[in-house]
Amino acid sequence: MAKTAAKSSANVREYKLFINGEFVDAAAGGTFETINPGNGEIISRIAEGTAEDIDKAVAAATEAFPAWRRRAAAARAKALFKLSQLVEANAAEFAELESLDAGKPIRDSSKIDAVTAIDALEYFAGMATKVEGTSIPVPGPYYNFTAREPLGVIAGIIPWNYPLLQAIWKIAPAVAAGNTVVIKPAEQACMSVMRLAELIAEVGFPPGVINIVPGFGETAGEALVLHPGVAKVMFTGETNTGKIIAANASKTLKPVGLELGGKTAVIVYEDSPEDYASTIAAMAIFANQGQNCTAGSRLLLHESLHDAVLDKVVEKAKAVKLGDQMDKESTMGPLISEEQLARVQSYADAGKKDAKLILGGDPPDDPDLKNGFYFSPTIFDEVDNSMKIAQEEIFGPVLSVLTFKEEAEAIAIANDSPFGLAGTILTRDVGRAMRTAQALEVGNVWINTWGAVTSMSPYGGYKNSGYGREMGFAVMQEVTQEKNIWVNVK
Ligand code: ADP
Repeated sequence: MAKTAAKSSANVREYKLFINGEFVDAAAGGTFETINPGNGEIISRIAEGTAEDIDKAVAAATEAFPAWRRRAAAARAKALFKLSQLVEANAAEFAELESLDAGKPIRDSSKIDAVTAIDALEYFAGMATKVEGTSIPVPGPYYNFTAREPLGVIAGIIPWNYPLLQAIWKIAPAVAAGNTVVIKPAEQACMSVMRLAELIAEVGFPPGVINIVPGFGETAGEALVLHPGVAKVMFTGETNTGKIIAANASKTLKPVGLELGGKTAVIVYEDSPEDYASTIAAMAIFANQGQNCTAGSRLLLHESLHDAVLDKVVEKAKAVKLGDQMDKESTMGPLISEEQLARVQSYADAGKKDAKLILGGDPPDDPDLKNGFYFSPTIFDEVDNSMKIAQEEIFGPVLSVLTFKEEAEAIAIANDSPFGLAGTILTRDVGRAMRTAQALEVGNVWINTWGAVTSMSPYGGYKNSGYGREMGFAVMQEVTQEKNIWVNVK
């Protein structure tokens, strides 16, 4: 598996740090490369931010904050609307960058990533003018009211699975509310975020309002979390990284918002139509190569339809067209990196020891795909929930199938997890659907669907899947703080 002998492709794009409205080299002069995970070729060379660059970015964001927060909310909204229009005008390029860099099938990235990012920019542009306080009928000769105020400099640390979207989900609500931001994209894939920086420059946000400093987690990321000038960290990534970030942030008593891992259970009750159940189950685990926090990695089948639904999921997995992510015919692309491929393989190997392998379990046997980080759709049956493959987040196309007899048993299995991000319930029985929805220890429940997310609805986890919420009115609470004001009217 000699994958990393990376060759430069003909077209290596170069990107600099975006600090204080300017594109600059890293203070230490370093760069790093991102590769096309489909063929191992180098596709970009990016300035590598370190603590010194983070200092500069935080200083610029600190200086920009007082004027930005005082700016009319409608003017902040207008800047975000303009950015949404520029992203829309460049949507095809964003789809291409996202696929090249993150390995997403182009047919998906052209429908999902930029479209959702535009929606979020528009929604949060609208939100800028709707950040309101309340008035409280206190006793005595007082008028008492609250104001919601921005926090200051917000750090956004984002992963590689939806780079553009994750960047927008961090930037848009924070900036709408009058904060300034420093974004640290993921080292594995950040071309789309660097392209976004160019559009931010074109919009003409005041210098320092939005800064983008690519670099590595242990250097640039950690410096940002430890920085005393940062008011809050909004993080999306692995649970273990989230714990490190929360611990580091505690040194300066910084609040953090954490969107972490998951182990979503897809519960299929006995009255669920089998075709539909198998469609949802296959989509939930194979979309984005299983590299979703909400990937439906545990399929809980009622014993009466276990065989029928499993057969159909296997059929759908066999129909997956695994191949070059830039090919419009491909429905599944490569994993993000050689490291991720090795990790998914190690889980598949654990599954082979513990459970019954039904399909896949290894990289595909296709010589055309040998230079990329491809992994075949993989299904294990006869999984017990205590097994490693059912307890840990794999972040790959590996499905664990479990069987249950009773509603209470399904709920108990679903909740027997350190994670609590999402759950899917498939049934035509509204009482059972709602009982299960109430009982699941998760932040997001999907009934007769999977993976629905919009900028209008709060999204976030219970348990080890994190705390704080993104999207909706909920995130506006996260990026502001409440001030209570008393006026003696005597
Ligand atoms: P993934 O498996 O998706 O790479 P991570 O949680 O490791 O998940 O990474 C998500 C983001 O967190 C990336 O931008 C990464 O650089 C950053 N990161 C990793 N370690 C740290 C750290 N110790 N402090 C701050 N940021 C970090």
